[in-house]
Amino acid sequence: MTLPPNVYDAEPIPEAAREKVEALLASGDLFRYTAPENAPVTLLESEFAEMMGVRYALAVSSCSAALFLSLKALALPRGARVMIPAFTFAAVPSSIVHADCDVVLCECGADYRIDLADFRAKLPGVQAVIISHMRGHTSDMDAIMAACDAAGVPVIEDAAHSLGTLWDGRKIGTIGQIGCFSFQSYKMVNSGEGGILITNDADAVARAIIMSGAYEHMWKKHKARHGENSRDLIDALERWQNKLPLYNLRLSNLSAEIARAQLPEVPRRIADGRRNHDLVASLIAASPWIDVPAKLAAEVRAPDSLQFNLVGVSDDETRAFQDAAAARGVKVQVFGLSSDNARAFWNWQFLGTLPDLPKTRAMLMRACDTRLPARLTPDQCALIADALIAAADDVMGEVKAYGT
Ligand SMILES: *Cc1c(COP(=O)(O)O)cnc(C)c1O
Repeated sequence: MTLPPNVYDAEPIPEAAREKVEALLASGDLFRYTAPENAPVTLLESEFAEMMGVRYALAVSSCSAALFLSLKALALPRGARVMIPAFTFAAVPSSIVHADCDVVLCECGADYRIDLADFRAKLPGVQAVIISHMRGHTSDMDAIMAACDAAGVPVIEDAAHSLGTLWDGRKIGTIGQIGCFSFQSYKMVNSGEGGILITNDADAVARAIIMSGAYEHMWKKHKARHGENSRDLIDALERWQNKLPLYNLRLSNLSAEIARAQLPEVPRRIADGRRNHDLVASLIAASPWIDVPAKLAAEVRAPDSLQFNLVGVSDDETRAFQDAAAARGVKVQVFGLSSDNARAFWNWQFLGTLPDLPKTRAMLMRACDTRLPARLTPDQCALIADALIAAADDVMGEVKAYGT
């Protein structure tokens, strides 16, 4: 039997990074603000803004830092209520705690997306929302933007897993006021750690630039994307000089060069990731125990992992399925069943009393998560699909198919 591939290894960093990194090693010029211009972090910002079609980008130490700075950039008062989907990573509510705001959790459905009825019901009294496109699943951005625009509530997009995703032809991360991306190793662009925020709002990015650690007049090295007028940005930066705390969440030149070398790879990673996902999704749909929720009509996804729900099974059978898949060489995590999972909202005990969110909880108890990196070949993907189907049969096949 051919074993399924290792899905945890990263892709090698493109060769183009080697020369740049060696130059940095030789010069020791790792701080983004030392060079008079064109430091690698500045170039990364400009290239990323170009790629996304926005005016401004600010590279920082993580997506969590970008989310925190986005909240600070919006000048939310202490104790402001910030709504997020209850299906997200613990770093997202943590960024709200870090910004001295209060977390409001919104229900998510079996399709992993925001439950719009709950979202609309909880919107009054909320001062900002962070739309976490968890695992790259896009919630209905038309409905969300309409509701938030009508209520005057700013939208931050947590697009950590959505680089390359389109909504009705628009790039995810450019629809809300601010979009945040991650360069942590499990994301589409891997610099170990790192993140970037993008926006067309000069005032917001000026505040974020200063708070990220552009002390004294280092902000003078920030510009609008190449070819765009920087006057609004400079005015805003002058306005905020000395008025904001410095949180020092900068990115180093070394990480920037590692990330820059991967930007030309992004279109291939998007296309191959989508091909791999759609192949496995269509194959495992043959199993009566597996449901892969459909994407929304306006969405063109860029997945690097696969989520699916087990249907008509108990907790014990779900656990047994995880074990059977592991025995066949595929590691599946069920968000709500693995202990201390950082994506299960009831483990966010730092929030204090947690609400009862039955829809999200039910989804997390049956939603299976498996990595599916873009570098896999279709044959390797087919092995993964075979293992998942066989694991479901191992556990449920005999008991249920011929049962009562
Ligand atoms: C990875 C991730 C984050 C955190 O990104 P870091 O760069 O590790 O801080 C936030 N939100 C989502 C949806 C993520 O997948």
